[in-house]
Amino acid sequence: MNYLSTRGHPDRKRFCEILLEGLAPDGGLYLPDHYPQVDSATLAKWRNLPYAELAFQILSLYIDDIPPADLKAICAKTYTPEVFGTEEIVPLRELEDGVYLEALSNGPTLAFKDMAMQLLGNLFEYELARRGAELNILGATSGDTGSAAEYAMRGKKGVRVFMTSPDGRMSPFQQAQMFSLQDENIHNIAITGVFDDCQDIVKAVSNDLGFKRKYRIGTVNSINWARLLAQVVYYFAGYFQATASNDKPVSFTVPSGNFGNVCAGHVARMMGLPIQTLVVATNENDVLDEFFRTGIYRVRAAADTHETSSPSMDISKASNFERFVFDLVGRDATKLRSLFVDELGGQGRFDLSGDPAFRQAAERFGFKSSRSTHADRLAIIRDTDKRFATLVDPHTADGLKAAREHLAPGVPMVVLETALPIKFAATLVEALGHEPARPARFEGIEALPKRVVKLPADVEAVKAYIAQNCD
Ligand SMILES: *Cc1c(COP(=O)(O)O)cnc(C)c1O
Repeated sequence: MNYLSTRGHPDRKRFCEILLEGLAPDGGLYLPDHYPQVDSATLAKWRNLPYAELAFQILSLYIDDIPPADLKAICAKTYTPEVFGTEEIVPLRELEDGVYLEALSNGPTLAFKDMAMQLLGNLFEYELARRGAELNILGATSGDTGSAAEYAMRGKKGVRVFMTSPDGRMSPFQQAQMFSLQDENIHNIAITGVFDDCQDIVKAVSNDLGFKRKYRIGTVNSINWARLLAQVVYYFAGYFQATASNDKPVSFTVPSGNFGNVCAGHVARMMGLPIQTLVVATNENDVLDEFFRTGIYRVRAAADTHETSSPSMDISKASNFERFVFDLVGRDATKLRSLFVDELGGQGRFDLSGDPAFRQAAERFGFKSSRSTHADRLAIIRDTDKRFATLVDPHTADGLKAAREHLAPGVPMVVLETALPIKFAATLVEALGHEPARPARFEGIEALPKRVVKLPADVEAVKAYIAQNCD
C-alpha cells in the first residue's frame, strides 16, 4: 500500500514512513492511494472475529511493511479486556428501538481517543526499536488528547512525552489523570497561560527545524493516519453487533470536532461496509454542520470559537476535513489545493454550494449533519437518565440529538459514545443535580502525588526544559 498527499506531492510512501510524520511535505494530509474493497464473503469471515483479530485483518490491508506476525502481536497486545474493560472491547447496547450506543470510552482515560492512541503507542515503540531511534513527543492539550497520549506512551521505550497544558484550566479530574502519572518518560508542563499559548509554543518549537531535528521532536495529533486507521476498526465491530447479516445497512452518528472520528467512518464506507448515513454531530461550533447544510466551509477565528459544555468539539477548523474533501472532489489534487491553499488560506472560506461535487456529499458519500446547544445537551442527559437509566456525557448527548433527527425506518442508528460522563462531571451535575459514578480505579485520584513542572508561556523556557530532560 502506498500513501499520497492530498495536495499532490509526487512522493509515495509506505505506512511506517508516515507513521512518525505529521503533515506531508507540501502541507497536505496522507491518504492511501486506494481503499481496499471488502466484499460480502470477507465480511462474513470477519463477523465473529474477536476485536484484536478484526483489527489485524483491517490493518493488514493498509500496512505491508510490518511482518504479519508482528502486526498481529501488536493488535493482540493493544486490544485486551484488561485495557478496555470487556471482551467485546466496544460493546453495543440498544437504547431504544433502533437507536444504539457503541461504547468506545472504557479505555485508560475514559474517552474514545484511547482506541487509537493505545495502538499508536505500541506501533511507535515497535518502529522506534526497529530503527534504533528515539522520539520526543511534544503536544498541547486542554484535556482528552494529552491524557490519551500519556497513557498510551507511558513506560514505552524510545519515547518521551512533553505535554503542555494551561495551568489551572483543566478540570480537577483531568489534571489528576495526567499529573498523577509517575513514569519517567512522561513530562507534564503546566504553562502560565491559556490553551492557545500552549499551542503557539508547540508550533514555535516545531518551526525551529534545527531544534526539532536535534531533539527528534514529533507529535501525535489527530491528522496522524495510523490514528484514523485504528478508528476504522470499530465501525466494522459496531456494524457486526447491530446486524445479523451483511445485507443490512446501518447508520452512524459521530460527535465531531476535528473530523477524525467520522472520517474513519467514511473510510469504512469507502471500503464497502454497508453504511447508509454518516451523521456529523456538532455543538455550537458548527463549522461542519454549516458545510453539510450549505456547501460553504468557513473557518472561525479564535474569538468566534465558543467555549461549550462539550469542549472536545470546540474547534474553529476541522483538521481532518481535507481528507474527505479530497475524495469529494474526485481526488483532484489541483482542485483540492486551490480550495485549501488559495481560498481557505486567502479568505478563510471556500464555497462548493454551486459545485456538483457538493451534492455528492450526501448522495454519494452519505453525509448528513446536525447542531446542538447547551440546552439540548442538558435535556438529552436528563431524558436518557430518566427513560433508560443511562448516563451519557455531553459529547455523546450531542450525538443522540443529531441521531434522532436522521432516523430511517428499519436502519439501525449507532451513536458513538465518545467519553464517559465522569470526565465532564460539572455538566452532569448541572443536568441532574448529582455527580456520575466513578469507575473504582479512579477513586481518590485527585489526592495522588502530582508530577508536573510549571513554566511561563515562553518558548525558550520550554526548549530549555526539553533539552535538559533529553539525555
Ligand atoms: C476528540 C473528541 C471528539 C471529537 O473527535 P474528532 O475526531 O476530533 O472529530 C468528540 N468527543 C470527545 C469526547 C473527544 O475527546
